[in-house]
Amino acid sequence: MSFDVEAVRAQFPILHRRVNGGELVYLDNGASSQKPQRVIDEVARYYREFNSNIHRGVHHLSQQATEAYEHARETVRAHINAEHAREVLFTGGTTHGINLVASAWGRRHLSRGDEVLVTAMEHHSNIVPWQLICEERGAKLRVLPVNRAGELVMDELEKLLTARTRMVALAHVSNSLGTINPVARVIEMAHARGAAVLVDGAQAAPHLQLDVRELGADFYAFSGHKVFAPTGIGALYGKLELLEDMPPYQGGGEMIERVTFDKTTFADLPHKFEAGTPNIAGGIGLGAALHWFGELDADAVAAHEQDLLAYATGRLKEIERLSIIGTARDKACVISFVLEGAHPSDVGALLNQQGVAVRTGHHCTQPLMDFYGISGTVRASFALYNNRADADALAAGVARAAKMLA
Ligand code: PLP
Repeated sequence: MSFDVEAVRAQFPILHRRVNGGELVYLDNGASSQKPQRVIDEVARYYREFNSNIHRGVHHLSQQATEAYEHARETVRAHINAEHAREVLFTGGTTHGINLVASAWGRRHLSRGDEVLVTAMEHHSNIVPWQLICEERGAKLRVLPVNRAGELVMDELEKLLTARTRMVALAHVSNSLGTINPVARVIEMAHARGAAVLVDGAQAAPHLQLDVRELGADFYAFSGHKVFAPTGIGALYGKLELLEDMPPYQGGGEMIERVTFDKTTFADLPHKFEAGTPNIAGGIGLGAALHWFGELDADAVAAHEQDLLAYATGRLKEIERLSIIGTARDKACVISFVLEGAHPSDVGALLNQQGVAVRTGHHCTQPLMDFYGISGTVRASFALYNNRADADALAAGVARAAKMLA
């Protein structure tokens, strides 16, 4: 099988619209990806044909919706190669998943003097929940540094993993730099010291083949909307024995077995962590998206994205005064850059005038921006449906901006 980018583009209706007089060049996939017709159709079909609440209904629609929702869970399980479907929790997204672990796992496992290790390139979603629980439990947050290329300083990891390290939380792929971190190695080293590992897979899910068992991750969180699915849905993988041992995160309907005013007992996994009516349409949409994604030849997709990364990087490097932030050897198709003398948001606004959508600012990684001594970058983040013409439009737009902002 090979990868036909034009055939893939044809499946994304939004890519055919025009913005500011030009054809849309969508390079803000790191923030949120577009949705293929198949996903849009599946979500619409749920509302059109069997919309109803799940799990407790005896009627036909409820049973059909329950089946579709649980089928989606099974699709997620298979996609990430988890052993059991009950190790897959539906969440609102990566942020929700990380908060769930920080709160429920942290309350059980962190005490005074314990340490949680994050990296200097984390998204705020993988910093703040740990800060909150560390403060509550009297634990300390430690930080694994990065080098100027935007790679983890692995020699420091050995020193930072102490007898008090209980959790290592790190991104699989950096949203600001594109760095693909050596998570398997980090997990191996953390486990050797008895620490658990949470992997923030928000940016890895749309680019890499995920295999939580091969990685050995204890927890793996990602968002649906970055992987061609709707917003407001995501998944959290947790190893069975860890999830079973954790107290509930939120209380309410769905997550109980029996409630009395004296005592409540909780439902089995995964429902123990899914209080309230879930995002049923979102779950179905996530299943459809991963099914769609899984039908593509993953190696061909990776080759296409690496070609785009090399091509777009080369084109941008032709532009004077432009510096790329994040030059790791192992990178996903994300290019952050600054133009000397120009504010990133001005560059972004000029690109927008030509229908080129990028993101500018700190990308929810302020500590990382502090490390580089900048307030933000312009970030072009590609998806599998982007092509070389998109990279050309980006380069032409940035060259124009460079002239105008000189
Ligand atoms: N982690 C990383 C690396 C991200 O890039 C993002 C979103 O940009 C998140 C976490 C948070 O994802 P969400 O807002 O979907 O919860």
